[in-house]
Amino acid sequence: MSSSFDPTGLHTELFIDGAWQNAAGGATFPVENPATHEIIAHVADGGSEDAARAIEAAGRAQAEWAKSTPRARADVLRRAFELVIANTDRLAAIMTAEMGKPLAEAKGEVAYGAEMLRWFSEEAVRIGGDQATSVDGKNRIMITKEPVGPCVLVTPWNFPLAMGARKIAPAIAAGCTMVFKPAELTPLTSLALVEIFREAGLPDGVLNVVTTSSASTVVGHWMSSGIARKVSFTGSTEVGKILLRQAAENVMRSSMELGGNAPFIVLADADIEKAVDGAMKAKMRNMGEACTAANRFFVHRSVIEEFSEKFAKRISELQVGNGALEGTDVGPLIEQKGLDKVENLVSDAVAKGARILTGGSRPEGPGYFYTPTVLTDVPLDADMMTTEIFGPVAGITPFDSEDEVLRLANDTEWGLVGYVFTESMEKALRFSADLEVGMVGLNTGLVSNPAAPFGGVKQSGLGREGGKIGIDEFLETKYTAVAV
Ligand code: ADP
Repeated sequence: MSSSFDPTGLHTELFIDGAWQNAAGGATFPVENPATHEIIAHVADGGSEDAARAIEAAGRAQAEWAKSTPRARADVLRRAFELVIANTDRLAAIMTAEMGKPLAEAKGEVAYGAEMLRWFSEEAVRIGGDQATSVDGKNRIMITKEPVGPCVLVTPWNFPLAMGARKIAPAIAAGCTMVFKPAELTPLTSLALVEIFREAGLPDGVLNVVTTSSASTVVGHWMSSGIARKVSFTGSTEVGKILLRQAAENVMRSSMELGGNAPFIVLADADIEKAVDGAMKAKMRNMGEACTAANRFFVHRSVIEEFSEKFAKRISELQVGNGALEGTDVGPLIEQKGLDKVENLVSDAVAKGARILTGGSRPEGPGYFYTPTVLTDVPLDADMMTTEIFGPVAGITPFDSEDEVLRLANDTEWGLVGYVFTESMEKALRFSADLEVGMVGLNTGLVSNPAAPFGGVKQSGLGREGGKIGIDEFLETKYTAVAV
């Protein structure tokens, strides 16, 4: 199987009630390769009529799907896992073509997404319940779990396969039907994933997909339909708040994976080699286009020189280029808007006193490329301290005391993840406890794992994806009082 992008056999239609079909008006929108600006496909542009057909199909399929056996649902997920693995090269090539990440990273994402399918195939048959003793001894208390009902799934462009897999897998395991709207910048990977679920034997109507250039029309229709019982969203805090307001109208269950502003803290006693390795992963994975990306580097003044020098050297050695080419470490950003944002954040920091150690420019086009950059002495009032950079730019700020760095790290409305590097167990545990985040990386720059509950606190979101509790987001608790 080849690793190069081949549009043959690519699905570009909507998938509703088990059938691939064009948008009602026949409209399409283009998908661009961010490394070359080539238009690689035209995808169906769904509108409210298509949205209505999709949510109605999900509504119709719900009752029967809820009654399917856990083993049958587990088997669909297991088959899908195997198909995703067997199609690794093809899926990775699609992802690199529409999103830009280097092929090796795209393959890593395929493996991670596949693991979510395998994890939830194992969880589908372990949905438990409980029983309790009533305080007055009058009733038995029987506690059971049921699927929430039809779910609205909305995903971003930065992890086109994994973000969909992380939502679809627990929904299938729990017995929920779905309407799914992938990001308009990267619809092709999601459509390929949906075709895999069809091949894996998912019944008609369980998973319906509408691609669109008008997210608010399609998703807005679903949110107000009265059919959907839950929304699971990954994306910006701004859009998350819009969906939460819409969810309030029908009192829908809501899971939100929103933005981050991750601190990366290097204490005075840290192993600097480990910290640099961790920084490379926490900053450079996915070109920095991740909500878990280290956004603010706080390094103790006594080690800042050594850390910055080694980190900048490693960053300057990275090969920037088309992700489809051998040897590329860093691909393009997703679009012009992202590139402009990164450029503005760097010039703002420099104007306020930061120094560029490496990078700080954009290579000759085409493609939305930005040279991997390390800045030091980034002042606290620089815009990049309060904005998700979403690019290959690391800004370093010195600190002197642990109390000071904890205060700085927590001084943000976000709370997704924090990274801490220290050789002291006592300090590690203190930071793990005191950082206001949903996830902590202790001496590691990577926290994602199918067995781990992924999610944030504060304005970084609600709920968790993955882990033992991941399936609970898609289950309701029912209590039956049984007379004795
Ligand atoms: P990003 O900045 O990462 O693109 P967004 O929050 O804008 O994040 O997008 C994440 C997902 O939310 C995408 O699928 C996008 O189409 C969708 N989206 C954007 N605006 C809305 C909206 N008003 N209603 C519903 N979905 C939206």
